[in-house]
Amino acid sequence: MKYLSTRDATLRFDAAQAIVQGLSRDGGLFMPEAFPVMPAGMLEELIRADYQTRAVRIMKLFLEDFSEEELAYFASKAYAFGEKFDTEAVAPVHHVTEGTEVLELWHGPTCAFKDMALQMLPWLLTASLRKTGEEKTACILVATSGDTGKAALEGFRDVDHTKILVFYPKDGVSDIQKLQMVTQQGDNVGVCSVVGNFDDAQTGVKQIFSDEVLRDELAKKGYFLSSANSINWGRVLPQVVYYISAYCDLVQDNRIQMGDPINFCVPTGNFGDILAGFYAKTMGLPVNRLICASNSNNVLTDFIETGIYDRNRPFYTTASPSMDILISSNLERLLYQLSGSDAEVRGYMDSLSRTGRYEVTAQLKDKIQGQFSAGWCSDEAAADTIAKVFGCEGYLMDTHTAVAYTVLEQYREKTGDDTLSVVLSTASPYKFCASVLEAVGVKEFRPGTGIIAQLEEKTRTAAPVPLKSLADKQVRFTQVTEKTAMTDVVREFLI
Ligand SMILES: *Cc1c(COP(=O)(O)O)cnc(C)c1O
Repeated sequence: MKYLSTRDATLRFDAAQAIVQGLSRDGGLFMPEAFPVMPAGMLEELIRADYQTRAVRIMKLFLEDFSEEELAYFASKAYAFGEKFDTEAVAPVHHVTEGTEVLELWHGPTCAFKDMALQMLPWLLTASLRKTGEEKTACILVATSGDTGKAALEGFRDVDHTKILVFYPKDGVSDIQKLQMVTQQGDNVGVCSVVGNFDDAQTGVKQIFSDEVLRDELAKKGYFLSSANSINWGRVLPQVVYYISAYCDLVQDNRIQMGDPINFCVPTGNFGDILAGFYAKTMGLPVNRLICASNSNNVLTDFIETGIYDRNRPFYTTASPSMDILISSNLERLLYQLSGSDAEVRGYMDSLSRTGRYEVTAQLKDKIQGQFSAGWCSDEAAADTIAKVFGCEGYLMDTHTAVAYTVLEQYREKTGDDTLSVVLSTASPYKFCASVLEAVGVKEFRPGTGIIAQLEEKTRTAAPVPLKSLADKQVRFTQVTEKTAMTDVVREFLI
């Protein structure tokens, strides 16, 4: 199977090339030229399989240049029970109430859904390097506003032929997020804070990528720079697995019969997670509606309802920060798949970069509305949902999951659709202790990691071990840099 660019469908790549390159030279994203359909009987077979085996069978359909043995080894490492994930199910489905299930994607080492993809990506990337004949060591550079940096550090830690360096804004991440990063273990990792905000860190990293002098210098030392961002095909593909896995679990638990369509409601930022759900449906998974949930940064709600994408609007900092995004990069893949036209996508993306806005054709809008519903809610509404669901069902959610839960309730009220629905839960409530405590009525917080025990006592739930043990971890990284000196940090790191 070949991969093409959403902006130039005449370009053809192998999966390994697409994963190594990340982004196509024309600025487009890599897509499979045709979507595989699950062969008859595959779903039935997967019901009896564990998560790792499900991952192998599903990913193999997209990765012809990888062997089944290879993928099985990657899955056993990436999703290892005990070492990496704290539940054998890896991505368990939790029954909350009649008709509503929650798919928990935060049982990995950093307690957020990014682990589902970033545990697998390093294996796919290093194998792809071998397959393309690259002998240099990959140095992964990441600018992070919090979650991605830590998940990437954990994913790449001690993976051969890779080094990883993460920049975070000095005053732009929470105490716990910072502690998670500066205590990172591993011999091939580096962490550095940047004086400035997230944009400063990101701009700095982009400049490093376009610095040709540095690139030549690093090549002589045996390094090349690479990124782990969410548009890489190697991050999207592992996410298809948990949609299919959740369906298998629901059949296994007799919540549905094989063949029954279900809904998924997804807390959305960059559109990577929900796009994987659409791919699962394209492959033949019985899915009724995909519901795209946003916070006050509701650019996607407007787009799905009107066909107009317009980023010219105020940016809000919310209690669900991983969804505070005005440009959802992965949407481009949906536009290509449903329009089938690289020229059309090129036009939209040109317009987006020139004016911050584009309007899709009536046909494309109809196609999108045929698959997706959308809604958004405020921080207050999400907090009310956390309190209500905890009070009535005894189930504690984080702020991102609560946005999706709230939007699902709105959707049901509006449409009367009572199809069984799965809410994707993207973070442990313990990653956002202050907002969750506030939602359940607490007004004063203990400092530092004390807030973790405070949430445990208040809700009589248990914090995940990786967060609970943070207080005892040694700080390994204290470097601070001005944004103008980030290149020097890279040079020192790669001596
Ligand atoms: C990244 C993230 C999201 C958004 O996922 P996208 O794939 O960017 O749409 C939602 N919730 C949490 C906790 C995240 O870390």
